Amino acid sequence: MSSSSSGDDFAVLNSSWLAALGEWMRTRTRALQIVQWCVVGAYVVLVAVPAFLPLPPEDAHGYDNLVVAAQWLFWGLWWPLVIASMFVLGRTWCGVFCPEGTLTEAASRHGLGLGVPRWMRWGGWPFVAFALTTVFGQVVSVYQYATATLLVLGGSTLAAIAVGFVYGKGKRVWCRHLCPVNGVFAILARISPLHFRVDSNAWSASAGRVRAHPVNCAPMVRIRRMTGPSECHMCGRCSGLHGAVALAARPPGREVMRIDPAEARAWDAALIVFGMIGLAIGAFEWSATPWFVDLRIALASRVLDHGPAWLLADNAPWWLLTHYPDAHDVFTWLDGALIVGWIVGTALVLGGFITICLALASLPMRGIRHRAYALSYALTPLAGIGLFVGLSALTVGLAKGEGMQVHALPMLRCALLGLAAAWSLRISYAQLRSRATGPRLAFALGAFALGVAGVLVAWYPFVFHVG
Ligand code: SF4
Repeated sequence: MSSSSSGDDFAVLNSSWLAALGEWMRTRTRALQIVQWCVVGAYVVLVAVPAFLPLPPEDAHGYDNLVVAAQWLFWGLWWPLVIASMFVLGRTWCGVFCPEGTLTEAASRHGLGLGVPRWMRWGGWPFVAFALTTVFGQVVSVYQYATATLLVLGGSTLAAIAVGFVYGKGKRVWCRHLCPVNGVFAILARISPLHFRVDSNAWSASAGRVRAHPVNCAPMVRIRRMTGPSECHMCGRCSGLHGAVALAARPPGREVMRIDPAEARAWDAALIVFGMIGLAIGAFEWSATPWFVDLRIALASRVLDHGPAWLLADNAPWWLLTHYPDAHDVFTWLDGALIVGWIVGTALVLGGFITICLALASLPMRGIRHRAYALSYALTPLAGIGLFVGLSALTVGLAKGEGMQVHALPMLRCALLGLAAAWSLRISYAQLRSRATGPRLAFALGAFALGVAGVLVAWYPFVFHVG
């Protein structure tokens, strides 16, 4: 990855109007703050109020029932669109709109100002936080019930405020280290075409000549050394700094095509392969696959015959397992265990298979481990578009409730996943061709393609049975 402008044709082509947009963001702090606090207000109302309203009747619509309206906004539009925005705007969502970011930064401005503890800097948090939230969200049915939404989103927001209050001074320590989707956004932003580009030559040359405006980079990015938008929240505050920072465009995916294997992180690879692909597919599919139903019936009858009987009890509280008798939706302990087992099992089997394929693809080159980590970033389009496809099932379900039909849904999903697979293969080719040629290159590409094919096969039940 390059930090300078050399060879950055895209950035040069687009530099003037994009740089002006970046400057506009920097100088309109007040306007951006108003936007942020409006989002916070809407978020608080839509997360909190529906949780205290009765369950919506079957024929409720988004326009006549606040619970359904909130479901539309949070799960039907917000999540899929936030994921999609990462492909185009990088982490602009985080820096300009995210209510948790706004709240944690505000709390940090008035809080204790303690330094970030060592345990919080552990590189595995993005994976662990994403995995726990994904699995927990499924067992409490976060997409279906407003109380579960309040529990998961509200709990995360309270934690963000508490962390902000205790740590940092006007910083977003929560976003940088503990936010459950920080890792996913950081990975997706690597393929975004927009970024704040740092011209290291201009920075050096500016010493003493160009006035530097004071910058509070809330996510604590080391701006001078920034080489991509992975950690940057695109807030625009550093635009024009030392005459060397400007909003610019670059070819989508180029950062991961050129990634230095020494910079590839094992936890990022784990998050892409086992989290964004494995866990996510398990979470999206368990309720759609007939195999899950068959397994549930077989295990329930076995427990009926041999015990222990408590496994079939449905006395778990709603904040631990789905429990809505009025909606005839109650999980037994066996259901909870099966859902967790299914999601984790899918992640292990599918993630294990992909890991083997990545290792095989890296075999012809030296430094297999780091090459495999680097190659895992090539799966980012497939993982990210997979998240979009999975989350958009909620949009489709809600649209159905409003009497709208999405025609040719499986075809649309196939097209999106097919494009994502092609993009991943293109990135892998760009990575591999500089390190292998002839039969070695063919072998490496074949092994990577096998992993991609495995992911596509795993999507089959979802693509054709959900919606
Ligand atoms: S580096 Fe920091 S200050 Fe600059 S745009 Fe990114 S988040 Fe904002």
